[in-house]
Amino acid sequence: MAPAHDAPEGTTGNAAPAVPARAPTLARVALRAPVFISDLHLTAQRPHSLARFRAFLDGLAPPVAELVILGDLFEFWAGDDALAGDDADDHVGAAVADALAQLPPRGISVYVMHGNRDVLLGEAFLARSKAQLLADPAVATLGGQADAPLELLLTHGDAYCTLDLPYQAFRRQARDPAFQAGFLSQPLAQRRERIGQARARSEAGKQQMDSHIMDVTPEAIAGALRTAGLQRMLHGHTHRPAHHEFTLDGAAAHRWVLPDWDLDATPARGGGLMWQAGALRAFEL
Ligand code: MN
Repeated sequence: MAPAHDAPEGTTGNAAPAVPARAPTLARVALRAPVFISDLHLTAQRPHSLARFRAFLDGLAPPVAELVILGDLFEFWAGDDALAGDDADDHVGAAVADALAQLPPRGISVYVMHGNRDVLLGEAFLARSKAQLLADPAVATLGGQADAPLELLLTHGDAYCTLDLPYQAFRRQARDPAFQAGFLSQPLAQRRERIGQARARSEAGKQQMDSHIMDVTPEAIAGALRTAGLQRMLHGHTHRPAHHEFTLDGAAAHRWVLPDWDLDATPARGGGLMWQAGALRAFEL
């Protein structure tokens, strides 16, 4: 983990502060037997995805010990007051929270990371779903290898799509606490409307954009791994499921990408990754 404590560039010159700058300590989570999913994009518009997700939750059982959702569980999230709303998507949000809350009593912990679409998931959602919020990124230590635990950088992944400059500007704004507070002070119906407009603009923009611009860049991935002092990353967001093997600073490195879910599309798709017998294994629904 040594690289995480290097002083950032620009702090070692003449104007060095009296107290050395430190990279913030990365969030850490120990996982025994996790299942990883992301990008379910649940909404009232995708009834088969919702039904399949609920069946998937019902089927989770030990030895699975954790369900880890790496962002974009929902197609959009207008704020936790939607849990008490009367719109069809509000009902989806409440039903999903209640379904997740069934897992901890059955011995399965639930972790949720913000995606770009549900960055406003808040304390009320976490309390109702009995889920724990994972910071993005977070370092997971995977169980089962006591002598050499496997460490993995978990992230939604959108932060590393660095060629998409308009998106990165939007991302900074959407994660700014002052912007979020201003947005949440608007009536729920107005927030839904603004999100609908933003989604329409985003869809239109994607039609014009080269697909590689919407993927992560090798430079950003390498930077994140170096900062964490790790050789392995797992993310979602790009909807390009894969296991990439590459070389980072002379050593073998791995990047696993989760699939998105759309059980209402033809052909239907969905799946995830499961830590089983000391290895990450892909599964499909
Ligand atoms: Mn995403």
